Amino acid sequence: MNEQLKKLIELQEVDLLLDRIRSEMDQIPKEIDRLKGEYEQSAASLNELKKKITELQVDRKNKELELRSKEEELKKHQSELFSVKTNEAYTALLKEIEEGKKLKNDIEDRVLAVMEQEDALFTEEKIKKAKLAKRKEEVSEQQRELEDKLQRLKQNLQEVQSEQKQKIGNIKAEIFKRYQRIREKKDGVAVVPVADKFCGGCNIALPPQLINDVLKGEDLVACRNCLRILYLKEKSEGS
Ligand SMILES: [Zn+2]
Repeated sequence: MNEQLKKLIELQEVDLLLDRIRSEMDQIPKEIDRLKGEYEQSAASLNELKKKITELQVDRKNKELELRSKEEELKKHQSELFSVKTNEAYTALLKEIEEGKKLKNDIEDRVLAVMEQEDALFTEEKIKKAKLAKRKEEVSEQQRELEDKLQRLKQNLQEVQSEQKQKIGNIKAEIFKRYQRIREKKDGVAVVPVADKFCGGCNIALPPQLINDVLKGEDLVACRNCLRILYLKEKSEGS
């Protein structure tokens, strides 16, 4: 095989590895953001619940005040019963007391209903709080792991980058430029094998003459469709 072509294939292996490392590195901050966002959403939902509980508490306190003033009013009316002069006034006062009692019972029922709601929300709050605390630990653990992974990838990247530099040094400048141009346009793959008379890059059928040229190995031969540089897999490599 053409020596330069061999070196291009080696370089491309390293370049593709670098691409993978970089894309993995890119994913990590996004993943951390996603985890944090998810946690913040749960925290916000707990805050909403707390707000609802406070509203219910205010509501209940207002109702309790209303209840107390109703009770005062009833007491006052009951003591007035002894001082009314006429039967009519007495009957009217009794009627008012009856209505007052009914109202008082209504308020008591409503206070109880609010208390029940509060209890349900308190239970929910307790569960959510516990879940959130657990999640917080999980998220920081996951974040630590991701940051460690990023560190490892950075180190790996540096190692592979120095390998890449070495490999580039073995390739003629104009061939390297051509390789880079194709790689930029073709998703990082500039050198492809001939796969059973088809281009391993774009799958178009290759003319026999072109395959012969690849076989001769004198010059770099490109697929006329996708312009990628072609090579034949050697027997020792399988296929
Ligand atoms: Zn092609």
